Amino acid sequence: MALIVQKYGGTSVGSIEKIKNVAKRVLRGQQQGHQMVVVLSAMSGQTDKLISMATEIQSIPDQREMDMLLSTGEQVTIALFAMAVKDAGSDAISLLGDQVRIVTTNMHTRARIRDIDTALIHKHLDAGKVVVVAGFQGVTEEGDITTLGRGGSDTTAVALAAALKADACEIFTDVEGVYTTDPNICAQARKINMITYDEMLELASLGAKVLEIRSVGLAKRYKVPLHVRSTFSENEGTWVVEEDRIMESMLVSGITYSRKEARITIKAVPDQPGVASKIFQPISSAGILVDMIIQNTREGQLTDITFTVLRTDYARTMELLKKTAAEIGAESVSGDETIAKVSIVGVGMRNHSGIASTMFQVMAREGINIMMISTSEIKVSCVIAEKYTELAVRSLHAAFNLDKDNPPAAE
Ligand code: ADP
Ligand code: ASP
Ligand code: MG
Repeated sequence: MALIVQKYGGTSVGSIEKIKNVAKRVLRGQQQGHQMVVVLSAMSGQTDKLISMATEIQSIPDQREMDMLLSTGEQVTIALFAMAVKDAGSDAISLLGDQVRIVTTNMHTRARIRDIDTALIHKHLDAGKVVVVAGFQGVTEEGDITTLGRGGSDTTAVALAAALKADACEIFTDVEGVYTTDPNICAQARKINMITYDEMLELASLGAKVLEIRSVGLAKRYKVPLHVRSTFSENEGTWVVEEDRIMESMLVSGITYSRKEARITIKAVPDQPGVASKIFQPISSAGILVDMIIQNTREGQLTDITFTVLRTDYARTMELLKKTAAEIGAESVSGDETIAKVSIVGVGMRNHSGIASTMFQVMAREGINIMMISTSEIKVSCVIAEKYTELAVRSLHAAFNLDKDNPPAAE
């Protein structure tokens, strides 16, 4: 008998019919003798709908009340799901984050899980029930409801799998696994059979939303092997595992894109010690994450600094930066919200040169201007105009031999 944690995303439980089908699938696991813990998201589109209702009332909604609101989406699906299991002749119980006691920090709308009490879950599993847990939510020590950030049901599932020492953690979604790029924008994308935690962390942080980044970090830390697979087929999906389990590493294993960022430039600031700190300190104090930063020295004692932030933080960052610009005597502040970041990721890059230059050649051939570049051991990212996103992704996918009908040679 194994203990299995299965997570189903929003599209997988997006209608009553789908909820009934997922219940049948879960019961097949139970009939095989396994203890089943199911983590569910809200129905697809529901969280977005709740957010837009909130912003109709408050342009920057109260964070505590936002969590009260957003956590309701998952309450609907877990209750309906438990009913579907009962209707199919078995027994289930739905539990909210605070009933389980998934204790989190009090950072509303992006709380972190501190501790999970597994006693209640074990009690119900031992009584033969399917335990259905609301994804994406928790509770503070003080009893306030929190949410974990968008896509956070993946994190709930992995954290539960770690706490319960589950034998398997399966992430069911609307595609067959992790692909070489988003299959919804590149028809030539191929499913990857196995990928390392580190590559998956990079892919997730650079825009591949198939797994939420914190879930991958947790899986790596607690050595939880993840199986990402489709709700709508029986096919084997993608295993996310430790590097030593993969015999052949690919040069480039995936291409990602993100349209969530914006670029900001502060022009002609004094080129002297302390200026970068004056610019970025108010931004970081406001909890705004800065991604890429480049600095260009001009003639004389002046420099331009360009950096990227999430588009959702763009207005706040511009406001803060304009104040700083006036204080330090900068020439101007300008921004661009129509950028995209396209990245190539692969552990094989560690031991190979020339990958970045191939990427730049592809961009040049397609006439795409590169505005910013950043690299790490296993990735290269370029900021480009948003309108070229698909073109860049598809051209890079082909150039690095990732296309379906052109399988790469093993490294
Ligand atoms: P769920 O609701 O099940 O959590 P998500 O919408 O969060 O599903 O994630 C699945 C989506 O991720 C897919 O429909 C696909 O468009 C997108 N995606 C982006 N990059 C990738 C990738 N490299 N591999 C697979 N899917 C990807
Ligand atoms: N419902 C939440 C969201 O849409 C959490 C999730 O689906 O993982 O972000
Ligand atoms: Mg998701």
